[in-house]
Amino acid sequence: MRAQERQLAWVRLGLAALAAAVLLLAVPEMAGIPILIVVVAIAAAWSLLVPWLLARFPAREVGIISTVVDMAAVTVAVYVAADAVDIYLFYGLVILGTALRFGLGASVWSSIVMSALYVAVVLIEGPLDSVALDLLPVRVGYFIGFGIVAGLFSRVMIGRATENARLQQRLMEDEREREQIRERELLSRLGRDFSASLDREATLRTIVDGAGPLLGGASMVFTFDDAERCLEPAAAAGPDGELTENWLAYATGHPPRLGEGLVGGVGATAVSRQASAVEIETGDPDGMRALELEWLIAVPIFAGGGFLGVLATAARGDRPPEDRILRLAEAVADRAGPALQNAQLWSDLQERMAREQTAQRIKDDFLSIVSHELRTPLTSIQGYSQLLEARLRTERSGESKEMAHLRVIRSQAGRMRRLVDDLLDVSRIDRRGGVSVEPADFDLAEAVREAVNRAGREHADRQIAVVAPESLPLHADRDRLDQVLTNLLENAVKYSPDGGPIVVTAERRGGEVEVRVADTGVGIPAEHRENVFERFYQADNDAGRQRFGGLGLGLYISRAIIDAHGGRIWAADNTEAGAGSVFGFRIPRVAIALAPEIAPTGEPPPFVLRRGDG
Ligand code: ADP
Repeated sequence: MRAQERQLAWVRLGLAALAAAVLLLAVPEMAGIPILIVVVAIAAAWSLLVPWLLARFPAREVGIISTVVDMAAVTVAVYVAADAVDIYLFYGLVILGTALRFGLGASVWSSIVMSALYVAVVLIEGPLDSVALDLLPVRVGYFIGFGIVAGLFSRVMIGRATENARLQQRLMEDEREREQIRERELLSRLGRDFSASLDREATLRTIVDGAGPLLGGASMVFTFDDAERCLEPAAAAGPDGELTENWLAYATGHPPRLGEGLVGGVGATAVSRQASAVEIETGDPDGMRALELEWLIAVPIFAGGGFLGVLATAARGDRPPEDRILRLAEAVADRAGPALQNAQLWSDLQERMAREQTAQRIKDDFLSIVSHELRTPLTSIQGYSQLLEARLRTERSGESKEMAHLRVIRSQAGRMRRLVDDLLDVSRIDRRGGVSVEPADFDLAEAVREAVNRAGREHADRQIAVVAPESLPLHADRDRLDQVLTNLLENAVKYSPDGGPIVVTAERRGGEVEVRVADTGVGIPAEHRENVFERFYQADNDAGRQRFGGLGLGLYISRAIIDAHGGRIWAADNTEAGAGSVFGFRIPRVAIALAPEIAPTGEPPPFVLRRGDG
């Protein structure tokens, strides 16, 4: 209605100009010509006023007032220039205007009103001559007939125009609907694709490849480089292959600095922006002129309150961007933010894990090499002290001070050797994920008695009892189980500093054998009971590290050995004695050696490499 009214105003203006020209050129001598010219001028001025009125008032009301003004103008013209030939025909134009504005009904009504006005003017003009009277019905007939014809014409015209408009509207709606479906599909596909990969490059490609076809000719993701304070082009795609390529090359050569140009401006203000070819900033930092861009849209990419980059899209040609493009770009950026952040976190995590693994490997290698290096001198010390002791024994009969000193050297060297062996075991467990065992048939009862006798010899002041059947056949790794028994016995002695009996029990339990070592020493606080099997762990009881020494490795290695036999090891309170602790383990009578998971060795460890270099 509004556009139609505006068109009618222009038509009226044209007709007013034409009427003025005809009056001035063809009938300059006509009576009342100045008044006619004034009427035409008013009609023209009114036409010019219509667009202004339309901007402020409803089009329908403006249309009604226009019709009234037109009627009044023609009525005044007919009155003033009653002699002018067929001036009444101008009413026809007013009726046509009404028909085009309001349709058939209004057209017929307006023709009746026009007839009444005309009759009134003719009667006022009087006296009535016979010609005028004869012509009156014809002219009234003309008005009514014109009203009907104009109304029907407008109905056909308006009907067709409405039909066209409706068709156009439906096509647009269909297209918009298809667009919306494509957008919805894109957004849900983006969500799926983002969750499928945590790789940063793949995420960047997903953004541009997914959104590119629905945005401008080319789309690009810029990532924020905090150190350089600029935006680096990271991925680009779009239906306009040439533009995509040129833009990527341009942006790589001129990465937008923060606050510079449209893309840099979005980076600085974190607000979406768009620019057209006529709004190019001084210096053209975005390369709009160089790339012949018609428009450029940039939206910020955020996640967790942090600015990550900018999604930009642009096109050549002469069409402005559709409204939906900015909206879609923002929706894509909303989803891209968390995905990019996750990808970044993942790559940081992987980097950190790789660094930690390398550090761990260097430490393990160091441990292994140091232990090996310490073993050689210790073996020499032990061997030579034994040799000296033997020589002293043959040279001097009986006990001497030197012999006692040599025994101390040998026992301390033995202690050190055990510590070094423990360290070597730990490094093996860490590298291979466990110890390897070689099961064979042997008598566990005998092995227990042997271990207890050995401990008894070393700690002659301690009372160590054995409760075991005559024989207890077992298929397991004897040396490794002896290591466990020795460790449990040493701990029982070490952690019962005030003496007290130690009882070792070995017995059959169905398809398994169970060994328990009970002491009446300091015991283990309940909250530490599980942890004592961890490496380098020492329970925080009044039996602190200072008083007892040790590295906190014995139980860790013991557990690895029992695990390798498919058994289990535990610690408990010595409830029978009311103080101290009981350490026990169980293994199947026919132990199945569980091979440790051999960690892939790959390239030689970095520690060894560095040694080689030196
Ligand atoms: P270490 O004896 O060298 O410290 P272990 O791995 O053999 O290392 O033992 C770990 C910790 O378990 C010890 O530091 C100690 O606190 C506790 N522990 C082990 N055996 C006993 C025991 N029989 N009585 C009390 N505490 C014990």
